Amino acid sequence: MPDIIDLRSDTVTKPTPAMRAAMANAEVGDDVYAEDPTVNRLEARAAEVFGKEAAIFVPTGSMGNQIALRLHTQPGKEVVCEARSHVMDWEMGMAAVFSGCQLRTVPGQRGVLRWQDIEPALSTTGLYYRAQTGLLWIENTHNMAGGTVTPLPVMQELVAGAHERGLPIHLDGARVFNAAAALGTDVATLTRGFDTVNFCLSKGLCAPVGSMLVGTAADIARARSLRKALGGGMRQAGVLAAAGLIALDEMPARLHEDHANAQLLAKRLSGTDGLSIDPAEVETNIVIFGTEVDAAGFVTMLKQAGVLAGAVGPKSVRLVTHRDVDAAACARAAEIVQRVSLHSFLQA
Ligand SMILES: *Cc1c(COP(=O)(O)O)cnc(C)c1O
Repeated sequence: MPDIIDLRSDTVTKPTPAMRAAMANAEVGDDVYAEDPTVNRLEARAAEVFGKEAAIFVPTGSMGNQIALRLHTQPGKEVVCEARSHVMDWEMGMAAVFSGCQLRTVPGQRGVLRWQDIEPALSTTGLYYRAQTGLLWIENTHNMAGGTVTPLPVMQELVAGAHERGLPIHLDGARVFNAAAALGTDVATLTRGFDTVNFCLSKGLCAPVGSMLVGTAADIARARSLRKALGGGMRQAGVLAAAGLIALDEMPARLHEDHANAQLLAKRLSGTDGLSIDPAEVETNIVIFGTEVDAAGFVTMLKQAGVLAGAVGPKSVRLVTHRDVDAAACARAAEIVQRVSLHSFLQA
């Protein structure tokens, strides 16, 4: 169905023609024996791009996050994270299952946590009858808050604060390349000092499958056995890593196009009867707008009109821009959203 405009997520992106060619021709081996040369190249390259010692290729961002959580904690510890973070909302309670930890959530400002928000939630005094904080957890960009960006000075303040208290700090950087693009910086600078960083190749960077966890050589060596424990030991994964290399090296440079298209959507939707959105709050490729009617019903009407979106709250709808929907299609999508809004507004 060529006319459907799919803005549910940047995960729907298909591998590019260059990726498919690289996948077809990839040199491969058995990665459980660390003998897949393409996976090895991808891991070396990811470590280099992030300025860290080592990296590991994992099937999903959720697995990378859960490996990181286990790396830095012991059972009974608390992990301090933002209230609507992915690890809280979308990772199946695995912090409890796999690591025996509980999450202590702190609401950020539109998803952004500063040190002053986190510090009161820490428990590091050693008080024998209180669970101790084991890890700080940051998400940049923040998905459910609408792709919001934690700026570089705040990232630096968080790292300094964590380390001053003797705590490790992990970055869920599923969309960290979007954050870097929005800030006009590079991911190595933005993530400096984080003990581990997880990022997705399979979202706006268009690879079909895969995420990377980067950190110290010692942590990544342990991550290999944790990945195997979770069933993530892959064999000729070089066919996937070949696409990942292109995602890592070539795709970040075009993310500004997705951000511009998100602005286009936000600007066209602002001022529409029945919708609420402030374009100034759209910082990257995620557009969340409020509806007066039930969001799930609104999304169903959008689907019938040819736009796929997601309901992310009782009265909020999310659109995510990506490589497979160009500016013209975004403009068409904006018209359709306006039409559906007018229709539902008149009906209400
Ligand atoms: C997508 C995403 C992940 C990981 O998702 P997978 O679907 O497991 O690859 C982790 N964190 C955030 C913020 C995400 O948006």
